[in-house]
Amino acid sequence: MKTSRLFNFVLIFLLSLGVVVVIKGNNFQTYNLENAIASEIEDAPQAHVYLGLPQNQVSAKTADKIKPEVVKLPNLVKKPGEPWRLKGKQLEVVNYGVLVEKDEKTGELRGVPMGNAEGDSFLYDPGSGGPTFWKNEKVEGKENDRALSAARFGEVNAYYHADRTLTYANSLLAELGEKPLPYLRVVVNDHSCSRLPGYRQNDCDRRSDEPRSFGGGHYRLPSDRFDDEGFEHPVEQMNLTGEVHLGSGNDYIKDANGDRVVVNGYPYNENPSHNAAIIIHEVGHHIVSHTADFRENQNRKPKENSNRKIHMDEGTCDYWTAVMLNSPDIYEWHRAGEKLTDKSNRNLDGSRTTANFVQDGDPHENGNIWSSALWDLRQAMGGDRKADLLVMKTMALFGEIEADNPKAKRKILRNEKIGQKDEFREGLAMLLKADELLYTGANRTLILNTFAKRGIDLKTPDSAFGD
Ligand SMILES: [Zn+2]
Ligand SMILES: [Zn+2]
Repeated sequence: MKTSRLFNFVLIFLLSLGVVVVIKGNNFQTYNLENAIASEIEDAPQAHVYLGLPQNQVSAKTADKIKPEVVKLPNLVKKPGEPWRLKGKQLEVVNYGVLVEKDEKTGELRGVPMGNAEGDSFLYDPGSGGPTFWKNEKVEGKENDRALSAARFGEVNAYYHADRTLTYANSLLAELGEKPLPYLRVVVNDHSCSRLPGYRQNDCDRRSDEPRSFGGGHYRLPSDRFDDEGFEHPVEQMNLTGEVHLGSGNDYIKDANGDRVVVNGYPYNENPSHNAAIIIHEVGHHIVSHTADFRENQNRKPKENSNRKIHMDEGTCDYWTAVMLNSPDIYEWHRAGEKLTDKSNRNLDGSRTTANFVQDGDPHENGNIWSSALWDLRQAMGGDRKADLLVMKTMALFGEIEADNPKAKRKILRNEKIGQKDEFREGLAMLLKADELLYTGANRTLILNTFAKRGIDLKTPDSAFGD
């Protein structure tokens, strides 16, 4: 015990000097800096979370490997005499989940709020991701207990991964002399599409013909100016400095053979708050929004933000995800059925180059070219914080670009200087500038060669990519 405490003190001392100790390994369980810090907080509450499993370790036959681990939750703020809540120094987690209540006399069903987790500890059962909301509605709330347990686990898992990501991002920003990220709110079980009268009725994902519960995540700043393509986000309900919304899931996880992954007798619901990759990716948007600010939101009115994401934004978020998971296989067991060659695959170790760029295509898929190039560079630079500082510096430099039309009193960069025509080229140029400022250009040749392998160079605009 004493040795481990001493180790932790040494670790914290090194951290305070801006030195990060990373024990290399395939699984990021060996990468848990803030666990070491948490263990110094005598009464930090215990929690169940998923630390991650590589995609190839999980199939329908080995689903028993999917087990939560016990960690301590750092950075929570506890008021005297009150229970622990998932409200911390850097973020809060709230739960918009809906339970099904049946009136015993009339037999009528109503939607009632799950409320937020609180207590002495957060050791919830993941409940195989919980039932989808409509399934629980169909069985008149008989799955309420599992729905609640899975939702609570999701709240905790979201807090853990989001806090861990913000801690790391803020440590990079501090080292660069930049200000820390503003407060984040993470909502779990958002847009679960209850059809019942009562709490959050008809809060659905309406991007397709039939409304349904949200199966993914997104990051939103308040906006009543732009249409939000199928989602409702009343500005008066939103945290001014940004929210991550994680849906409640609407499908089941399958393995490489197409078989459902069954855990404790239930097919596992693809619950976004159980998925570290989705959580971290969306927190990545909080980082990118408040550093690079590609949509120049800092010069818009507080409730008139633009939530559009450019390819480089999506790719950078996947980069932060790979960094935090210490693996390019970011979707892990949640996408066990996906092959590296699948169009939707966002593994940073895939073969995508600008030849695969699709004009006006999906920014996540095009962004995979950028994230893969960054990941290649990180590996070439030794696979550690040095590359992460470079990427963060690049984002900070984008945020510093001044208006080229002073009368407009805002930066024109995103709309006119970058657009989606040459953002990778601009990204590479900014990366080289960051390298000059941070490392006196020591990595210039390495950066140019690494990006050239992915088809990105200083001359070719994105409009020339693809076929
Ligand atoms: Zn939303
Ligand atoms: Zn995204």
